[in-house]
Amino acid sequence: MYTYEKEYDVIVLGAGHAGCEAALASARLGAKTLLLTLNLDTIAQMSCNPAIGGTAKGHLVREIDALGGQMAKTADQTGIHFKMLNTKRGPAVWAPRAQSDKKAYQLAMKQVAEETPNLDIKQQGVESILIKGGKAVGVVTQQEIRFLGKAIVVTTGTFLQGLIHVGESQVRGGRFAEAASMGLSGSLEEAGIQLQRFKTGTPPRLSGSTIDYSRCEIQEGDQPPQPFSYSTKQLDVDQVHCWITYTNEKTHQIIRNNLHRSPLYAGQIKGTGPRYCPSIEDKVVKFSEKDRHQIFLEPEGKHTQEVYVNGVSTSLPADVQVALIRTIPGLEEAEIVRFGYAIEYDYAPPTQLKPSLETKRVQGLFLAGQINGTSGYEEAAAQGLLAGINAVRSLQKEAPIVLSRDQAYIGVLIDDLVTKGVTEPYRMFTSRAEHRLLLRQDNADLRLMELGHTIGLIGQEQITQLRHKRDLMEQEVGRLKQTHLSGSALSSVLARPGFRYADLPQAQRRDDLPLQVIDQVEIECKYEGYISRNHVQAARMQKMERRKIPAQLQFETIPALRREASERFGHIQPATLGQASRIPGITPCDVAQLVVYLDGLERSTAR
Ligand code: FAD
Repeated sequence: MYTYEKEYDVIVLGAGHAGCEAALASARLGAKTLLLTLNLDTIAQMSCNPAIGGTAKGHLVREIDALGGQMAKTADQTGIHFKMLNTKRGPAVWAPRAQSDKKAYQLAMKQVAEETPNLDIKQQGVESILIKGGKAVGVVTQQEIRFLGKAIVVTTGTFLQGLIHVGESQVRGGRFAEAASMGLSGSLEEAGIQLQRFKTGTPPRLSGSTIDYSRCEIQEGDQPPQPFSYSTKQLDVDQVHCWITYTNEKTHQIIRNNLHRSPLYAGQIKGTGPRYCPSIEDKVVKFSEKDRHQIFLEPEGKHTQEVYVNGVSTSLPADVQVALIRTIPGLEEAEIVRFGYAIEYDYAPPTQLKPSLETKRVQGLFLAGQINGTSGYEEAAAQGLLAGINAVRSLQKEAPIVLSRDQAYIGVLIDDLVTKGVTEPYRMFTSRAEHRLLLRQDNADLRLMELGHTIGLIGQEQITQLRHKRDLMEQEVGRLKQTHLSGSALSSVLARPGFRYADLPQAQRRDDLPLQVIDQVEIECKYEGYISRNHVQAARMQKMERRKIPAQLQFETIPALRREASERFGHIQPATLGQASRIPGITPCDVAQLVVYLDGLERSTAR
């Protein structure tokens, strides 16, 4: 076997959305980094919809940006249709989303990776992880090359033992027309990492020239489009249109008639799929009262005719896909260029991870992305960023970065994964965040950029701009509180429903302030009561989060603790009292017993 001449600090397996962020973060922090992936032409490929962001996912992208990650910048650079979702509702749920030019996104991400100092990229499929004395020390590839590294980040997505289903046909694959990764699962299991099966699916793609758009509703992008990244000053983009159409009773009848040919219903698929992102066959069966389902027709890029049919994820046989598509208004003559399919794959239940995303079993082995049971580019990228940061910090003997639930959606995501585990592919929703009024997409910079700067991923220029913005905001909110108009403070005038900053008398407003600052000032004044109540709740929670639990605590030795509770604590090994209290099946009484024990422990060590 050939051992490669260079030795690395961090080796990242897989150049999907998690892998790119992990490798870029690691290299940007100065670690000698190697990114190994099955195919250099599919770096950052969007396996499913050609879009970044959306409800709660858009929040994740803004947070990735505020911490110094890449996804937002590349989405801005390659977006072709931008939309802020949910603007009719409160600011907590506003969410940026952009259609991307799929190929341009991949190439832009590849270029960034290629041009990043300290980062080597190689086309190599990894077969096994090398472990010595309980520590990850390198990997071996299919071509029998050994690469040595001090920390390994695995981000292999849907590729582990991937099995693709279209009707009765089954083929091995990590995505359509891409080989599955067959050896790595065995190596992970040998290392003591348990694996299970999940399933996900994707819709067919159509030739745009065969669609009759006159029968569909147009959906235009926002004017002006709003960027994802805090570093993008303005978007100069000629936006494309998306289109809306609907299924109907004929579509549903074809699906019902062919359910016995669906691998999902015929029992071929064993893995659990995402409930929130059901296939069209699932929607027709489970929501039988609905006489139509909405479909978005989304162009895959500016230099291709391919159109993504958002809402018709299916693994029905090809002939059924053709028949059902042609019942839909506008698609009567449509040609399918790629058929929809479902895929089953191995994932590693994420309760096997520490909050740093390092495995509990193997020191220096980190997992991020879909391998942890999540679904979605943004969820993957967020984990990749944190795994990359923490891999480097572990080598520098620095404490890991663990975001709290009141600090970031990324904190909610990782805490949910490592504390509660998953029973289906996990995607982010705003409803998962108990402090969502604090975690808005518009204030991700105010929440996280100082931390990004401390970590070393946000430069001086950006942090100076952030501090200037914060000063302007605080000064203006202070001024509005102190200035009165007909007996009312301007801040309370601004709090009235429907009243905007621009509605203040000209002499009372500062038209020189940047729009971003005015937006923040409006939100601060309008939602002050809710925001401060959320802060109080968060502070209460923080007390529990600050109370550390010693690593390797033998929970079974805690007197009066229920056996089931000590087993659950032992399995998760919570790092803090807060995390312990969120473990499913743990009662307030169990937490109280743990507190009594920790108090005693602290008293005896203080003596
Ligand atoms: P991926 O993007 O899958 O990247 C994995 C990378 O690892 C690839 O670059 C691959 O080449 C590389 N790799 C694999 N094995 C090895 C190895 N042994 N050695 C080296 N490199 C390796 N998400 C949604 O949000 N909504 C959806 O509707 C949706 N539908 C999907 C449908 C399908 C059919 C698929 C395949 C995915 C779907 N997803 C969906 C999921 C989304 O694509 C993933 O969540 C996201 O891409 C995961 O990112 P990742 O970085 O973890 O993995």
